[in-house]
Amino acid sequence: MQNDQHLVAVVGAGPAGLFAARELAVQGVNVVLFNRDIKPGGLAEYGIYPDKHKMKEGLRTQFRQVLSLPNVHYYGNVIIGQNADFSLDDLREMGFQAILVCAGAQGTNWLGLPGEDLTGVYHAKDLVYHYNRLPPFSQKSFAIGQRVAIVGAGNVSMDITRYLATSRMVDEVVLVIRRGPAEVKFDAKELEHVVGHLDLTTLREELDRVRPIMLELGQDPLRFREFVMAAREKGDLPTSNTRLSMRFLASPTRILGDQNGRVSGLEVEDNTLVLIDGDVKARGTGRHFVIDVDTVIFAIGDKVDSSLGLPVKGGEFCKNPSPRFPVEDQSFELYDPQTGVVIPDVFVAGWSRKASTGLVGVARKDGTNGARVVLRYLQSQPVMEAEIIPRLDKRIHSLPKPVVTWSELQQLQAAEQARAAELGVEGFKFDSNEDMLNAIGISEIY
Ligand SMILES: Cc1cc2nc3c(=O)[nH]c(=O)nc-3n(C[C@H](O)[C@H](O)[C@H](O)COP(=O)(O)OP(=O)(O)OC[C@H]3O[C@@H](n4cnc5c(N)ncnc54)[C@H](O)[C@@H]3O)c2cc1C
Repeated sequence: MQNDQHLVAVVGAGPAGLFAARELAVQGVNVVLFNRDIKPGGLAEYGIYPDKHKMKEGLRTQFRQVLSLPNVHYYGNVIIGQNADFSLDDLREMGFQAILVCAGAQGTNWLGLPGEDLTGVYHAKDLVYHYNRLPPFSQKSFAIGQRVAIVGAGNVSMDITRYLATSRMVDEVVLVIRRGPAEVKFDAKELEHVVGHLDLTTLREELDRVRPIMLELGQDPLRFREFVMAAREKGDLPTSNTRLSMRFLASPTRILGDQNGRVSGLEVEDNTLVLIDGDVKARGTGRHFVIDVDTVIFAIGDKVDSSLGLPVKGGEFCKNPSPRFPVEDQSFELYDPQTGVVIPDVFVAGWSRKASTGLVGVARKDGTNGARVVLRYLQSQPVMEAEIIPRLDKRIHSLPKPVVTWSELQQLQAAEQARAAELGVEGFKFDSNEDMLNAIGISEIY
């Protein structure tokens, strides 16, 4: 289908939004890509571990190809949402026939425990944004101590461990894991980066401790040990004296603080494991103990941003359970669960559709599928007004703040490459909006 009569707003230029934009644009649709950050890429730019240069550069090349398509119009530093630069209603009024939300999962999950407001308690995403130099997180200071508990057992907890061991060189990292060794979610590749720091004596003791519970569920306690040993064979050498340990079957219940309001310990409840409908679940035993740490980092996933102005339930946007245009039995459409009414012109893809789920390849596929759903929807839509693009451009540029377009992004890229060459480093990033805007000759003051 060739479709040059339609105009779609894609909200968010992470992998999902960029690959969605490409799918729409190659079908001739005019795409306006709004992005909160000055730079595109989302977590591919500001999440993936900084030293994965090859992966990041490969993705940047693909993103540049999308942004150079003549019918893709990029506007960075523009936030969509209620009380933001433009609301979803503003976009409708501006003439967009469909809106595809690919804004990732920008909300943070907390457990709601006493002590979460103490100094030294952080959410992994904020720290990830910080060490990947995303403003304003790049400018924030994080009071990381010497003994850090990371709550969670996914790949993000591995990345945080790696940062703490290589950049912060803390004394100790304890992974606090709700269930057992058979339920960890990190993969061997990410473990390899930190396995050199793992204290094998404590691991052996910990595996002996949880062994009877695993055997009761028919799990093989040796498997995790083999997984760790295989990772050790290929793993990186330790870069500091940071000691890593894992505490299985432990759910945080309270964060303890000292007289200065700083973390002084993490209270956890000891768990056992039970099988419910084939799923392994943690069940508290009622026994509590305190892990001696001065910092707690929650790496327990993210939720979507409710300020976008779309209905949210359980950390996810409410998807239409009977989609008009399903793809692989999945819904990319939104509805209001209170009224049961479908929101006809708004769609979701990527981490906005399924928060904290999957690698870039998954987000790419989801963005592409989301775009295909939008294409099907557009078939029943009237054609767009003539000469709308220049008018839109004028309206977007009339915001009382700097807006960054594709040609300016290219200048920014050239400025960063020049600085990297000057410093003799593999990559360089300006870590404040002010510096990025200065590099392309735009003032932040309007
Ligand atoms: C710590 C970490 C490490 C990872 N490492 C890897 C890895 O090594 N390899 C791998 O393949 N995958 C990795 N991933 C996963 C990968 O980053 C994600 O799968 C992917 O980035 C999700 O894409 P997305 O487009 O859905 O969301 P995001 O990447 O989050 O992009 C969302 C975009 O929306 C924009 N936005 C947000 N809100 C608004 C708004 N209101 N208005 C306008 N724009 C908005 C943001 O600026 C951002 O550009 C990692 C993820 C994390 C968290």
